[in-house]
Amino acid sequence: MKITNIKTLKKKDLIVFDLDGTIVETKSPMDKEMSELINKLLLKYRVAVIGGGKYQVFKELFIHRLNSSKESLKHLSLFPTTSTSFYRYHNGWKKVYVINLSKSEVKRIIKAFKEVFNEIGYQHPKKTYGKLIENRDTQVTFSVFGQDIVKVLGKKGVRMKEQWKKEHTPIKMKITRLMAKRLPDLEVRAAGFTSIDVTKKGIDKAYGIKQIKKHLKVPVRDMVFIGDAIYPGGNDYAVVRTGVDYIPVAGPKEAKKIIRGLISKK
Ligand SMILES: [Mg+2]
Repeated sequence: MKITNIKTLKKKDLIVFDLDGTIVETKSPMDKEMSELINKLLLKYRVAVIGGGKYQVFKELFIHRLNSSKESLKHLSLFPTTSTSFYRYHNGWKKVYVINLSKSEVKRIIKAFKEVFNEIGYQHPKKTYGKLIENRDTQVTFSVFGQDIVKVLGKKGVRMKEQWKKEHTPIKMKITRLMAKRLPDLEVRAAGFTSIDVTKKGIDKAYGIKQIKKHLKVPVRDMVFIGDAIYPGGNDYAVVRTGVDYIPVAGPKEAKKIIRGLISKK
């Protein structure tokens, strides 16, 4: 259920965040203010972060910007690539599990993307940045402008992605639908602004919540999920199915407000 009451929120044991668009601006490093807020939050609550990005992206954008003590980091859990992997801190970041796609699955996914592009006459943008189809082992991701657009162009890259999303989302949804038809045994999902993720079947953020419950031994009722895409078609929407309490945010600015509420003494 969506919650608005700060008292209900403060009683939670575990605060679960989406990463991209919630803790960080899309594909951008966490800012200093957010870093300080998460630090303080870790002193009072357990925190889990679940996102579509791979572990290296979590490290680059999030972990490397966080100056928490080793003691605090023990309260933080990472669930990259939509929780197909889990990392926890114990004398350094340690992988607890990872669910990889098989080599033949990866091949089939890449082939299907190419076939769908051909079928609908989809043209890639003239200039792209890094890989368009990236094998993240647990997940294969197609990104319209390539993986590295924000790394290369910074804020301009973010704006280009937003613009594309505004103008071309129906094309993305069409590619997603055709991919799903070709790969009925796998999970195909539109994600972020300009990407499509393919994973093993049944991997979504609801699966993530279940993994978090199982591995951190926290009942769903003691969690709250905070994300920027908790609406039909959004990549956070699946969490609603688990019955977890949630708070939709438009972006990091609103997420910060919620964290301030959580760490305030009142
Ligand atoms: Mg997001």
